[in-house]
Amino acid sequence: MEHVLGLRCTICGAEYGVDDVAYVCPRHGNDGILDVVYDYDLVRRRFAAQPPAVPSMWRYLPLLPVSRQAAQPLVQATVLETVGWTPLYPAPRIAAQLGLQALWVKDDSRQPTASLKDRASAVAVVKAREQGAAVVTTASTGNAGAALAGLCAAVEQRNVILVPRTAPPAKVAQLVAFGSTVLLVDGSYDQAFDLCLQVAQSWGWYNRNTAYNPYMAEGKKTAAYEICEQLGGAGRFRAPDVIVVPVGDGCIIGGVHKGLRDLAALGQIDRIPRLVGVQAAGSASLVDAWERGIAGWEMEAIDAHTVADSICAGLPRDRNKALRAVRETGGAMLRVDDAEILAAIPALARGCGVFAEPAAAAVYAGLVHAVEKGIVSAHDEAVLLITGSGLKDVASVMKGQSRTPAVVEPTLAAVEKALDGSVAR
Ligand SMILES: *Cc1c(COP(=O)(O)O)cnc(C)c1O
Ligand SMILES: [Zn+2]
Repeated sequence: MEHVLGLRCTICGAEYGVDDVAYVCPRHGNDGILDVVYDYDLVRRRFAAQPPAVPSMWRYLPLLPVSRQAAQPLVQATVLETVGWTPLYPAPRIAAQLGLQALWVKDDSRQPTASLKDRASAVAVVKAREQGAAVVTTASTGNAGAALAGLCAAVEQRNVILVPRTAPPAKVAQLVAFGSTVLLVDGSYDQAFDLCLQVAQSWGWYNRNTAYNPYMAEGKKTAAYEICEQLGGAGRFRAPDVIVVPVGDGCIIGGVHKGLRDLAALGQIDRIPRLVGVQAAGSASLVDAWERGIAGWEMEAIDAHTVADSICAGLPRDRNKALRAVRETGGAMLRVDDAEILAAIPALARGCGVFAEPAAAAVYAGLVHAVEKGIVSAHDEAVLLITGSGLKDVASVMKGQSRTPAVVEPTLAAVEKALDGSVAR
C-alpha cells in the first residue's frame, strides 16, 4: 500500500495515514468523509511494470487502495475476477432522437450481481481480508448488499446485510441465495444506514457502508477509467464531454470524478468531462443544495420517496464529494419525476437494447432534461452510466408499460386476431 499516501478529509483537508483513522475524519465524525490520496509517480511506475491488462477492474490494480498480496489470491479464479470491464455501446438511435451527434451507454447492468456496486464491494472484500475481519457488514437499498453478498459468497466471507424491508424482492432474493445474514429493517434506508454504523462499531465488523468507507468510491471510479479507455481504444484514454450519472448517496458520481482526476493527474486525459447528476424529484436534496449553492455539510435530511429505490436517500452520505464533482467539472444536478423514470426504462430498452432498473434509467430522463435546458448540446459527446439491471425490479418495469401483452388461445386464428395486422407477414 506504499502507493496510498493517506486519507484527506473532504471538509477540513486534514490528512491522515491509512492506519491512523478507521473510516472518517475524527474531527468531523460521520460527516468527515475521506479522500484517498495516491503517489502518482509510484502508480505510473507500477503501471509500466504491470503484466498484460486483464479484462476487469483489476487491470487498474496500481490505482486501487489494496495490496497486490491481498488481492491476488481472492481475485484469481473467483467471481471477483469478472468485476468490471463492462461494455460501452454507441446509442445512435437515441442520439438522433435527442439531436445529439454522439451518445454512448456504459452498461454496468452486466456485472456479476447486476449492478455497478460490484466495483465497490470487490474492494471491500479485499480490504476486509487484508484486515482479517471475521464479518463484513453494510446497509444498502439493495444493490450494494447484493454485491457484497455475492462477492463474499465467492470467497467464503461471513457478512451481515441491512436493507429496508421495502427493498425490491429480487434484491432480497439475491441476499438470501448468497447466504448472507439478512436483516430487513422496518424503516428507511437512512435509518438502516445509521443502524449499521452502530452495529459495525458494537461488534467490530468491517464496515462497507457507502461513503463512510473511503475505499468504496475507489472501486466505483474504475467505471470512469473504463469509459475513457474504451473511448480511446488501443490502450489509450480519451475523455467524453459529459457523463450522466444517477445520484442517491453520491458515491458513484464522486467516484467517477475521482477516476477522471486520477487520469488527468497521470497525464492520460487532457480535460475532465462535465458530470451531470440525476436525482429523483422525491429524493433531490443534492439538486436543491446545488441550486442554492450550499455546501454538503450544510444540508439537512429530508423524507425521501421515489420508485427508484437505489437513489432514495434522505441525507446523501457522499454529499461533499457529489457536489464537488458537479461544481468542479462545470456540470449540473437535475431532478426527474417518477413517471419520467418509469417511461425511461422502455425508452432506453427500445432505443439501444439495454434493460435498466429505475435508478439507472433515470439518466435517460435526465439527459432529455439536460438537452432541453442546453446543458448538453448537439456537438457534445455524452455517456450514460447504466448502473443496474431491469431484472432487479420487474414490478416497476411493468408499471411503466402502457400495454400488457395479449393472452391468446393456442390457435392460429387467435394469434391473427391478436396481431390485428400490427405485424407484417
Ligand atoms: C447505488 C446505485 C445508484 C446511486 O449511487 P450513489 O452512490 O448512492 O449515488 C444508482 N443506481 C443504482 C442501480 C445503484 O445501485
Ligand atoms: Zn475533517
